[in-house]
Formats: sequence, C-alpha cells, structure tokens
Amino acid sequence: MKFYTSIFTGTLIIGSFQALYAQETAKHEDTEFYTPVPKVLTPGKLNTDAPSDALVLFDGKNLDQWVMADDRTQPAKWKVEKGIFTVDKKTGNIETKQAFNNYQLHLEWRIPTNITGEGQARGNSGLFLASIGKGDLGYELQILDAYQNDTYTNGMAGSIYKQTTPLVNPAKKPGEWQTYDVLWTAPTFNADSSLKTPAKVTVLFNGVVVQNGFELKGPTQYIGQPAYRQAHGASPIKLQAHGDKSEPVSYRNIWIREL
Ligand code: MG
Repeated sequence: MKFYTSIFTGTLIIGSFQALYAQETAKHEDTEFYTPVPKVLTPGKLNTDAPSDALVLFDGKNLDQWVMADDRTQPAKWKVEKGIFTVDKKTGNIETKQAFNNYQLHLEWRIPTNITGEGQARGNSGLFLASIGKGDLGYELQILDAYQNDTYTNGMAGSIYKQTTPLVNPAKKPGEWQTYDVLWTAPTFNADSSLKTPAKVTVLFNGVVVQNGFELKGPTQYIGQPAYRQAHGASPIKLQAHGDKSEPVSYRNIWIREL
C-alpha cells in the first residue's frame, strides 16, 4: 500500500514538475493568433445605422427586397410613405426575396399613437425569423404593443411566440419607434430530416437583451406543442399581417448581415 502511495505521490510530483516546466517554457506567442484576420468594415454613426457590409432590406424608399409571402411571384403590396412602410392587413404577409441561414438583423417598428384594442388585438404583427411556408409558418418573434397592455407573457413583444417570455420589458409607448436587434442561428437537420441542432436566438429590444441564446423548441405553434416536424434550409424573413382589427404597425430601417 505504501509502495503504491509513493508511486502515486511520485507521479503527482513529476506531473506537477512537468506542468511547472511547461509553464516556464511556454511563450506568450503560443496563445496569440494572427489568422484569420477579421474583415475590416466601417461601423455606422449610430448603432442603428447599417454597417458597410449589411444588406439593406428597407432603406425608406421601396420594398424591392420583399415579395408577398403567400405568392412569391407578387411584389410586396404594403404601402411605403415618408420613409416608412405600414402593414396592409388585406394583402397578407410579406417576406424577403432572399433566404438566410445565420444572421444579425436590425429592424425598427412602431405601434400607431392611436392604437386601440387590447391583448393580442393591439398592434399585433410579427417578425418571422425564418419563414418556412405560407401563412404564419415559421419562427415568430412577436411584435405587439407591450406598453401597459396585458397578455400572456410568452405572447408579448420580445417573446418567441408561445415559447418563451422576454427577460424584461423595455417597451416604449405607442407612437415611438422601437428596435429589434436579433442574432439568429438557424436549426440544422440530418440527412433523414431529423433535427441535428435547434434554432437559437438572442434578441435586443430597444437595446436591451430580452432573449439570451434561447434554443427554440420548433417553429411557432399556435395550438399545441412546438416541434421540428419539417427539415428546411436557408429561409426568407417574414413580416406578419395579423388579422386583428387594430391600427396597423409601421416599419423602417431594416438591414441584415449574414454570419
Ligand atoms: Mg404576431
């Protein structure tokens, strides 16, 4: 027993000596990397301005980057006016021409000053982080008046609809512009269509983190439990024309950087 103990102790001593030796022979260069070199870009003046490498999805002029979600041959029919565009509930959801996997997205939205209704029927729209079909198929980050407007918390602004409540509520009053900054990691699927890795999202709402690396349980499911039932690749980003009767939401300054 004593023999083994001393072997053990000896090994420990040699081990510590080796560690000490390695520490002494280590050079500061060992942990300093020079490649790959991050791409140089010019940041915007404000953190809401598109940086130089962003794809601008709406710059106040037109909806050329968008199509009708339920008929992608049709140009987006929502109205652009005075540098902003407004949901047209009669025409339906719109989505981007391009498809994306992982990205950083900036988007600004405004609940009208004269908003009426309550709960889910008060300025409801939505940002589908990946549109995977017609209607409301996809992963919805809720857009809704969250200023003194009670509803289920996993359905309020800043929530991943029906999956998770925002960490805090930094909502502004109706009539004020609000920002979403989103980091989206798309789900991946195995060859047999089973889920490989779930979608993951981080969301800043008016500059405040409301979702921190949340792993989605699947696409948004209005009734029942969400699950990854359908494999998909790169997907468009979709904006919701919600069927409630309240005054429509407006948007401006939308840009994206693929990661
Ligand atoms: Mg919605």
